[in-house]
Amino acid sequence: MKIQMLDLSEQYLSMKEEIMTKLDEVMSSSRFILGDNVKKLEEDVAKYSNVGHGIGVGNGSDAIHIALQAAGVGKGDEVITTAFTFFATGGAVARLGATPVFVDIDPITFNIDPAKIEAAINEKTKAIIPVHLYGQMADMEAIKDIADKYNLVVVEDAAQAIGARQNGKSVGELGTAAAYSFFPTKNLGAYGDGGMIVTGDEQLAENARVIRVHGSKPKYYHNVLGYNSRLDELQAAILNVKFPYLDDFSKERRARASYYTEKLNEKLSHVINTPVEKEGYYHVYHQYTLRVSNRDELQAYLKEQGIATMIYYPLPLHIQPVFKDLGYSEGDLPETEKATKEALSLPMYPELKREDQDYVIDKILEFYSK
Ligand SMILES: *Cc1c(COP(=O)(O)O)cnc(C)c1O
Repeated sequence: MKIQMLDLSEQYLSMKEEIMTKLDEVMSSSRFILGDNVKKLEEDVAKYSNVGHGIGVGNGSDAIHIALQAAGVGKGDEVITTAFTFFATGGAVARLGATPVFVDIDPITFNIDPAKIEAAINEKTKAIIPVHLYGQMADMEAIKDIADKYNLVVVEDAAQAIGARQNGKSVGELGTAAAYSFFPTKNLGAYGDGGMIVTGDEQLAENARVIRVHGSKPKYYHNVLGYNSRLDELQAAILNVKFPYLDDFSKERRARASYYTEKLNEKLSHVINTPVEKEGYYHVYHQYTLRVSNRDELQAYLKEQGIATMIYYPLPLHIQPVFKDLGYSEGDLPETEKATKEALSLPMYPELKREDQDYVIDKILEFYSK
């Protein structure tokens, strides 16, 4: 048996004709940049997020970066975030000349612990970036209360969490803006890079639209320094085909997550912590991530059995070499550091077969019965 973390081929085959038709339409139209497909996707994704504006950009990293810049974050500002995330979250802050300030996580959800945010706020603090890791929202209600109290911007890193909810509220609804990624492996994946900012703030939306075209407004007049970062028509056309299926994909992911959880807890609840979906939350399981103390041995064993697993993320941002000037050292964020040693993500995608899941579960049981 060989089981991959994810396999995108089945999904493609199920939509191949629809996708090919749309791609042909774009190529025949000769309209490749910021045309009707991008506009439609922007409208649909904004509506889906219960906010007024969607701004398609080149990738999820740029979505974070541009949203921050559009909200006025820049040189000298501090931005509070988590170190237990993909590099892009901290990279976006640093590339703006602002300083990332890392706060520890809640060990149950792996997300930023709102109870630890206030202690990190000072007069330089301008924004908070919660990351909705693995597909479950950080506690946006608590974060919004803090942001309102100190007048801070909140840019949600929702790269892994399109479709997630907290008490019925979407990603993007409680924050100032949210950033989605359409990287191929994400829950709504393009066939190349892509990203989107969603926001209810009209001024932020307008700023972001200008920043993604070199800060040009009116055309060829530049009042701000922007980038070339646009979602292209071919990717948007593909995403427009896939988008109507997104809620079904989420349901399929959730069903697979429940099955893993039920089977693993039956016999291994004493050695494995399965993911916790907090009450009132709708987790979209971008990843299905266990906590285990002998993680590296388990991973090596599963690899021998042909089962791919991943460690998201082995080195937290506060001790990444590129951030050494920030002055953090090991031990500063104990929960984050512990999670980097215990987290193990299992194969997860909407089309994952029951027999493959059973094989993964059997091999995990086998490892613990040795
Ligand atoms: C994927 C991801 C990003 C970056 O998205 P790209 O589209 O690859 O640039 C940012 N943050 C998190 C948490 C991610 O998982």
